Amino acid sequence: MNTPKKRAKLTLTIDADVLEKAKKVADQKRIPMSRLIENFLEFFANPEVYCFKCGDKFTSADAELCPRCGWMICPKCSTCRCGLDEDTAVAVFHMRRVYEDLVSGRVK
Ligand SMILES: [Zn+2]
Ligand SMILES: [Zn+2]
Repeated sequence: MNTPKKRAKLTLTIDADVLEKAKKVADQKRIPMSRLIENFLEFFANPEVYCFKCGDKFTSADAELCPRCGWMICPKCSTCRCGLDEDTAVAVFHMRRVYEDLVSGRVK
């Protein structure tokens, strides 16, 4: 059984337009704003990614970086960029930029 997690209050000052738009989308999707922010902060603190080859989920903290390509190596199938063909590697590179933009830097 999981013990209930301690809750903490967070007060932020952010762009009013961003907040208004986000609230609208969150309302439409019926997701509480606090859960959205919690999800993001959790990802920021300990990013979890899916392996591009086998699809297994792993946390960046558990992954070694490949000295050749500089990508995280999947702990399950040991794939990094070196194990992908060029077209796939390019696609992955651009997909990865979405979350690197989100977390303002490299995931690892
Ligand atoms: Zn894998
Ligand atoms: Zn590699």
